[in-house]
Amino acid sequence: MSSDSTANLHPETIAVGWGYDPASALGSVKPPVYLTSTFIYPSAQHAKDVHEDFFLGTGPLAGQGGKIYARLGHPGLDILESRLAAIDGAEDAAAFASGMAAHSSIALTFCQPGDSVLHGRPIYGGVDMLYGSVMAGFGVHCETYLDGTDPDAVRAAAQAALAKGPLALIVAETPANPTAAIVDLDLMVALADEIGAQQGRRPLVVVDNTLLGPFAQRPIERGVDLCLTSLTKYAAGHSDLLAGGISGAKDLVAKLKALRTTWGNHLDPFTAWLVVRSLESAAVRIERAMANALKVATFLRDHPKVAGVTFLGFLPEGSRAKAVYDRQCKGAGSTFSFHVHGGEAESFRMLDRLRLLKLAVSLGGSETLICHSATTTHYALTPEARLAGGITDGTMRLSVGLEHPDDIIADLAQALEAV
Ligand SMILES: *Cc1c(COP(=O)(O)O)cnc(C)c1O
Repeated sequence: MSSDSTANLHPETIAVGWGYDPASALGSVKPPVYLTSTFIYPSAQHAKDVHEDFFLGTGPLAGQGGKIYARLGHPGLDILESRLAAIDGAEDAAAFASGMAAHSSIALTFCQPGDSVLHGRPIYGGVDMLYGSVMAGFGVHCETYLDGTDPDAVRAAAQAALAKGPLALIVAETPANPTAAIVDLDLMVALADEIGAQQGRRPLVVVDNTLLGPFAQRPIERGVDLCLTSLTKYAAGHSDLLAGGISGAKDLVAKLKALRTTWGNHLDPFTAWLVVRSLESAAVRIERAMANALKVATFLRDHPKVAGVTFLGFLPEGSRAKAVYDRQCKGAGSTFSFHVHGGEAESFRMLDRLRLLKLAVSLGGSETLICHSATTTHYALTPEARLAGGITDGTMRLSVGLEHPDDIIADLAQALEAV
């Protein structure tokens, strides 16, 4: 399966084998790991031609992607990037050392000093810090919106951003960490068109698709420019590596790849190989985790010690969020929050009694992970900012894994007695 056309193939099929030609490696059914930092040329002229292709895209080896040095590109990256692009339905993709390396590359590649950026809240803490403080140091201004389904609120925030400087990026994480707050991607794309007409330069729409992943939510098909995934989470799925991917149009990804050779934040050969291997089972793992999550969320919703469950599968009928969910998502995911009656003390008593569930940040692994949001993932936020994002002192984030759902529920049931 190394042909150019993904026509008529489902993403689940593409995830198995796409982008690798066994004939390139002695018929090996699986791709080898190319553990090398540099590549040898048969002649000086060949070396020159490969460099001409890399830097200018011209010459006798144009478009052949000849290799130079692993920071500039390596065979494992080619396999992963063509597979990721095909799964996401994009022209091209670029892989990075982590999800945050990918976010940082977008910020540094597409923002100039004086520009502004619009993003929602809540959002992954690292992204909040990237735009709220790090990019501020480079003269990039940031504005936020709270309800990504409210056209008036989002447009007002966009105008506030525009007042600070030309809007370069509209960044959305949906569903968002940790409360599964949903953002209307069609609204973000329409907004980019409106702002583009207003300021004469269309801002890029960037979507962090980590929480649902490529099988349950397809941002490129909705017209967003760049789809970012922390491959660390569901795509790799075993809590044993860090990686990030960005899919999008060829010209945008080319800019990211060109500067990646300067930032040096590409994904290494062995980790790229592990991600390719894991992508093959991602759809099945995600489907099972989502089925487990629905059972766990239903148990928690009906439990007397639980004040509420923030789960996409429970969005109220008739709400704006439910309408967006029905249009945009093919599943409710398996990471969600629940809120116990009480605060930090009650939450800690419960967490310390768990026997099977692991107390750790991160999500999307095969094992069920749980953490107390206010004192871990959202520690750095003020209590006011946390509350605005729906995080109380009794909020716990749960990433439901692949254990038998009855065992997950039994462990939560015995631990909730301590609340
Ligand atoms: C984990 C995560 C990131 C950051 O990814 P890393 O691979 O840990 O750098 C970004 N966005 C979301 C939604 C995440 O969950």
